[in-house]
Amino acid sequence: MIPYGRQTVDEDDVRAVVEVLHSAWLTTGPMVDRFESDLAARVGAKHAVAVSSGTAALHAMMYAIGLTAGDEVIVPPMTFASTANSVVFQGATPVFTDVDPETLLLCPDRIEEKITDKTRAVLPVDYAGQPCDYDALRDITDRHNLVLLSDACHALGARDKDRPTGILGDLTAFSFHPVKHIATGEGGMITTDDDEFAQRMRIFRNHCITTDHRQRAEQGSWFYEMVDLGFNYRITDIQCALGVSQLKKLSGWLARRRAIARRYDEVLAEVDGINPLGVRADCEHAYHLYVVRLDLEKIGKTRQDVFGRLRAAGVGVNVHYIPVHFHPFYRRRFGTSRGLCPVAESAYERILSLPMYAGLTEQDQQTVIQALRDLV
Ligand SMILES: *Cc1c(COP(=O)(O)O)cnc(C)c1O
Repeated sequence: MIPYGRQTVDEDDVRAVVEVLHSAWLTTGPMVDRFESDLAARVGAKHAVAVSSGTAALHAMMYAIGLTAGDEVIVPPMTFASTANSVVFQGATPVFTDVDPETLLLCPDRIEEKITDKTRAVLPVDYAGQPCDYDALRDITDRHNLVLLSDACHALGARDKDRPTGILGDLTAFSFHPVKHIATGEGGMITTDDDEFAQRMRIFRNHCITTDHRQRAEQGSWFYEMVDLGFNYRITDIQCALGVSQLKKLSGWLARRRAIARRYDEVLAEVDGINPLGVRADCEHAYHLYVVRLDLEKIGKTRQDVFGRLRAAGVGVNVHYIPVHFHPFYRRRFGTSRGLCPVAESAYERILSLPMYAGLTEQDQQTVIQALRDLV
């Protein structure tokens, strides 16, 4: 089965990890600092704080801004559940706001009707790797005095006009899960230009203890204080060594993802009934996913049928995503139901993600293309 996404790991990566295993620090060591400074430099942010997952990154962001019970955060439903979950972790309420039908990105025109006196932040998702329209979003958050966050777990290496993801929101979350652009096994990062946010997240990932193990070792001190309730969201040096090595290859991988997307675009222009999502002008897509919309009437099949046929042909298609407000937890806790975000709900019925990763060979892409042609 050709998967929809997977990591690329080479001998340099293996060597980098083995080297750390022979070193003094397996966690909270110098390789964490190195990964942070390399990623901060890559996106042009002042600070980068590495944590144990993209989900931890989102949660740390919510802690950084002081989100608390009673607050509301505007989120799109077309995302992985942890985008909204991070709001709930802090006792606050995610307010699901519909997406644009062409791009499935949070729709700026829908936001203001959802803003109340409890709204603290807007958390757009750069769905599939395409950055949202951050100028339009910033205009709204400035006018209403809200924090502009960014879930860029799909979009490392993307650009909105000439500005890279990582500096588009006041705080930006990345994930290094193996299907994302670079892999650390599990891992995440938050970038920000704000000194206080960065400091709050550095202690939050370590139980809100004011010093970490290495700092105490360097100071020859045993004393520490826990100043707030935090978590163990630390990432290991083993993971960060892999991250540092992977980051060096990001540019080449992005070029490969874009070439794969161009090939799909060309082919699908000739295939009736299977349409790629729209791409905004003035942005550079990072293509975490290549999502198509099926014209089910034209194809004369159900999505389940299309899904089954492609899987049977060895093409590991997937669906990103079930709208988050459909999940039983959200229905139960927040009373969400069908009809809340009609654009996302209708898109959900007809989307499929085709295989997209840097290591996808031309031959495998040809297998995918042939399976699509056979289908229609
Ligand atoms: C992957 C992902 C996350 C969560 O990242 P993990 O590293 O798996 O915790 C959050 N949001 C989006 C949009 C993602 O794709």
